[in-house]
Amino acid sequence: MNNHPRNERTLALIKPDGIQRSLIGEIMSRYERIGLKLVAMKMIVPTKDFIEKFYNLDPEWMIKTGEKNIKAYKDKGIQHPMNDPLKVSRFILDKLKMYYTSGPVIAMIWEGAHAVAIVRKLTGITEPLMSDVGTIRGDFMLDSYKMADDDKRSIRNLVHASGSVTEAENEIGHWFSQNEIIKYRHVQEGILYDVNIDGME
Ligand code: ADP
Repeated sequence: MNNHPRNERTLALIKPDGIQRSLIGEIMSRYERIGLKLVAMKMIVPTKDFIEKFYNLDPEWMIKTGEKNIKAYKDKGIQHPMNDPLKVSRFILDKLKMYYTSGPVIAMIWEGAHAVAIVRKLTGITEPLMSDVGTIRGDFMLDSYKMADDDKRSIRNLVHASGSVTEAENEIGHWFSQNEIIKYRHVQEGILYDVNIDGME
């Protein structure tokens, strides 16, 4: 039963701009209304060191993020000002540390079937300019790689969401201790997951 997809967990963070834009309720309701269960939540102002360690939990993050960024420029026919993946991600991480420490962040763990993929889908892709309408980043933010890079700041995209199940496990361990995670049954789990649904009298 523990391996059932309904037990998957993911980490989502409402970044400081999400809080300053008064979007806490809106963001949480999108994860909640699809059927995910909130199993942990807290508000903190992280330190720069905590954020540096957070983005280095995945040893591939530096290279992947730099490459993704250069490709996003190329796809729009623009030459990247740095063009070196590691230099690009070093720049991104320095800006991220300023972004995340500029105010409170809300950290949440959401549990439910395919939680990682579902939360990523509802969140949208990294660059709000290219995020689909209907996603959090697509509906509530208008930032772009180019504007953020020209202004030498982080892309403001309201939320962070884990990218894979392994990443989620590591990220949850970074933000929460085991005793902060609540195990409980939500009444709607019956209609979401029970094999037989007997709604008739
Ligand atoms: P995601 O958050 O979608 O998983 P990444 O892991 O690639 O995206 O990047 C982490 C965060 O770094 C992004 O959410 C965004 O806030 C910021 N970021 C990414 N690329 C850039 C960039 N080129 N310039 C400024 N900030 C960036």
